[in-house]
Amino acid sequence: MYNIVLFGPPGAGKGTQSEKLIAKYGFTHISTGDLFRKHLKEETPLGKLAQSYMDKGELVPDSVVISMVKEKLQSLENSKGCIFDGFPRTVPQAKALDALMEERKTPISVMIALEVPEDELRKRLLERGKTSGRTDDQDLEKINNRIRVYQEETKPVADYYHQQGKFVSIYGVGLIDDIFEKICEAIEKKK
Ligand code: AMP
Repeated sequence: MYNIVLFGPPGAGKGTQSEKLIAKYGFTHISTGDLFRKHLKEETPLGKLAQSYMDKGELVPDSVVISMVKEKLQSLENSKGCIFDGFPRTVPQAKALDALMEERKTPISVMIALEVPEDELRKRLLERGKTSGRTDDQDLEKINNRIRVYQEETKPVADYYHQQGKFVSIYGVGLIDDIFEKICEAIEKKK
């Protein structure tokens, strides 16, 4: 089993590259943003709780995110591996994920970080906002807050995986297929 943390700021291309990785390797996609949006749509208590944080571009509290991921992992059967997309976003989340994966005897294999300059992120998110229906993609103030939260709270997660020798950085600007090829090379190297 091969487990990837696909890391990067909002708009780095994690969702796009996840889709391609799933098509090629058959991995299971675990996107905490998608899971929250599903809860929101279904108006579950968890969705209602997450909404106020998501609206502002703030992080949902760790305990809430971690228990949602735990539940998702428990529901998996015969997975070839997981792509964690948008999770972990804090060091406590990264530690909790390690503990969960240790219990399952399926540790994280690699963290792939997509590096994209901030101006490009803003441009991409506003463009996505025209069709995604996501209100957090349509407002520059919310976008800037998400980028700030990434810099302050999420970036330290890269150091956490660096210390474990699992960190790979890939420049995330260019043709989608070229970036995908680099991601696949990184995966094959760590296999
Ligand atoms: P995303 O689709 O990954 O951009 O996530 C959308 C929003 O969901 C974020 O701005 C957060 O409010 C929330 N969210 C998603 N994943 C996490 C996470 N791992 N920790 C905390 N909040 C999260």
